[in-house]
Amino acid sequence: MTQKLSTISWDDVMMANYGTPSRTFVSGKGCVLKDDTGKSYLDFLAGIATNVLGHGHPAVIKAVTKQVSTLGHVSNFFAHPEGLRLALRLKAMTGDSNARVFFCNSGAEANEAALKISRRTGKSRIVAAQGAFHGRTMGALSMTGQPSKREPFAPLLKGVSHVHYGDLSAMSRAVSKKTAMVIIEPIMGEAGVITPEDGYLAGVREICNRSGALLVFDCVQTGIGRTGQWFGFEHEKIRPDVLTLAKGIGGGLPLGATIAYGRAAQLLQPGDHGTTFGGNPIACAAANAVLDVIESKKLMQSAKVFEKKIKKTLSVLPGVSEVRGRGLLLGIELSAPIAKQVAASMLDAGVIVNAANENTIRIAPPLIVTMPQIEKFISVFVNVMREADHG
Ligand SMILES: *Cc1c(COP(=O)(O)O)cnc(C)c1O
Repeated sequence: MTQKLSTISWDDVMMANYGTPSRTFVSGKGCVLKDDTGKSYLDFLAGIATNVLGHGHPAVIKAVTKQVSTLGHVSNFFAHPEGLRLALRLKAMTGDSNARVFFCNSGAEANEAALKISRRTGKSRIVAAQGAFHGRTMGALSMTGQPSKREPFAPLLKGVSHVHYGDLSAMSRAVSKKTAMVIIEPIMGEAGVITPEDGYLAGVREICNRSGALLVFDCVQTGIGRTGQWFGFEHEKIRPDVLTLAKGIGGGLPLGATIAYGRAAQLLQPGDHGTTFGGNPIACAAANAVLDVIESKKLMQSAKVFEKKIKKTLSVLPGVSEVRGRGLLLGIELSAPIAKQVAASMLDAGVIVNAANENTIRIAPPLIVTMPQIEKFISVFVNVMREADHG
């Protein structure tokens, strides 16, 4: 198999589910990616909020290299040091001495575990948000509130209802004593960085307290420092019953985690759930390195500084109606439905961003991004908007 890369066609070898990518990336360093023609790009998407330390970070390289040459995989029949160390740290981050961790490989799987935990309450109904994204496996898809992703795969799980995000009275009407769990993203990432008003998450907590439903915060996109805190809900001074993580936690390696608090941490019984690769030593070693660097380099503090700078500069720009989000998960709302063209023009100009929907540009750069790189992104965005027809 020595066929030259440039002659392999995506459409000849890949299924059609993603559409055909416009670029092939061959290497990366820090916040910069290089494609197969040698062109460089400033990466302001970070593998969708995943490469928190950018590409080829020395701490991740060192941890992974050491781990793969020491112990690569043992299955969950056995313990290993990096997994224990990571679970202890995550537990400490929750501030709950009763918290317990389950490791898996992705966001969808982390939410599937939350779903199974909720079934162990003896109840089965679930309330989620319209527009929410919780993953593509059948349980996670059942909770996802986007008809275009759900409808081709009906029938999905029964007993799941979706309410308007941000509307506490709708939530209150939907949740009853029969509700096993409520699942909410602290900021809805895929939907377009939809950011609720202060007090919404605390209000949902209240409703769950009254009905006895488990409150699950899906922090897959908003976790691991992304919003300027470890977990995307922490500005509200409340705790969920279950917290799910993936994306950023492995710094680019596949890792997910479901963390249950208090009594919810006791719901899964021996034999109830499992996954072969979950919490594998290499992914856990990478995650420990990621947490070390976020702490030692104070990356959560710098995320807040960059948030202020970007909001201040871009929110006054012609054609921009709002900049929302927290830390380094930001949605730039355009006044015209030209987000896809803007993202494509930025890519041509060497900056990777994402059009989360027709009107929203989403950015989620590595947390190691520097002020000069933030300024470069701003200047390219300003130029592209100047040339765009934003009515
Ligand atoms: C990406 C995402 C998921 C799904 O994660 P996968 O690793 O793609 O399965 C779930 N929830 C949220 C909030 C996400 O952003």
